[in-house]
Amino acid sequence: MPCNATLVAPNTYDPKIILPNAVTVVIVGMYMYGFDKIKPEEPGHPRGNIGPWTRGYVQAGRYATDAVESFLEDEGYETRFTNELPYRTLAVKCGLGKIGRNGFLFSEGLGCYIRLGAVVTNAPLETVNYTTSSEDPCGRCRLCVDSCPTGALKGENDWDADMCLHLWQQGKGKYGDYIPIEERHKCGNYLMRTGKCLQVCIRNHNLVPREHFPFQVENKEDSPELIPLVLASEEEYKDLLPYNVYKYGIPYIRRDSIIALGNSKDEAAIGVLSEGLRALPEKERGLCAWALGEIKGEKAYMVLLEAEKIETGTLVRSEIQHALEACKIT
Ligand code: SF4
Repeated sequence: MPCNATLVAPNTYDPKIILPNAVTVVIVGMYMYGFDKIKPEEPGHPRGNIGPWTRGYVQAGRYATDAVESFLEDEGYETRFTNELPYRTLAVKCGLGKIGRNGFLFSEGLGCYIRLGAVVTNAPLETVNYTTSSEDPCGRCRLCVDSCPTGALKGENDWDADMCLHLWQQGKGKYGDYIPIEERHKCGNYLMRTGKCLQVCIRNHNLVPREHFPFQVENKEDSPELIPLVLASEEEYKDLLPYNVYKYGIPYIRRDSIIALGNSKDEAAIGVLSEGLRALPEKERGLCAWALGEIKGEKAYMVLLEAEKIETGTLVRSEIQHALEACKIT
């Protein structure tokens, strides 16, 4: 199930568009279970979650493809790494596994924790074609569909990309750059992607964590503390978060962090949200008001009352009023 963001034009999936004299596509996979280091939340220290293997997403994808490219080029062939092919479907044709209802390739002993990559080459390699089939490998299981926070997974080898949290959190998808109040709880504490459809899948229940990953990645948090992110400068964001997260745009990550703090309902965030409500741009100020309304309590209520006296922005005032109402409903 390729992301609709990669399908940029008709016939994008023709390997000859990527390499005109292509004769072979090589599909590789990196087992990723055990990669993420998620720290448990403690009261007073709410944490975000950047999503499964986000920190090493590019590096894991390129590790094996770089090795394949290097080998084939040394043999005198041309190669192209590509993200523009439906590599999950191609992995099925290679016999690497099947595609589950969550849209991920799964394989015996590796579950769905496989980062795939593709290389197109003019090397006349021996190929296989296990073909794809319409057989449903998941039977009656719908765990991933039922746990998808936004309902993006439809369950019949189908998904609604506009409902994907990964797009919402980049200011795209159904709601563009402002997620409506009634949908924000679905973002949980995720900062870039949700891994729910991997976490719940029965195929991942008895996996053995991998101990060594043979590629270099940034030594940064997969579950960063959220409070320092609300007012952090661009430089601080770059220090605290991996490139594969902040590359999507620091204003969006800041908004995602504020929403995650609201969902944490942790009173320790009131101070920074109060400051954010005064100092940040309009949309972020509105989210700070909403987050205070989620945290509730007298302290949050008083901050909102004070802000209401001086706030002039229509959007922020509306968020403050909603938050004040939310504080009363306890
Ligand atoms: S959770 Fe169930 S339905 Fe979803 S991919 Fe895994 S086995 Fe299939």
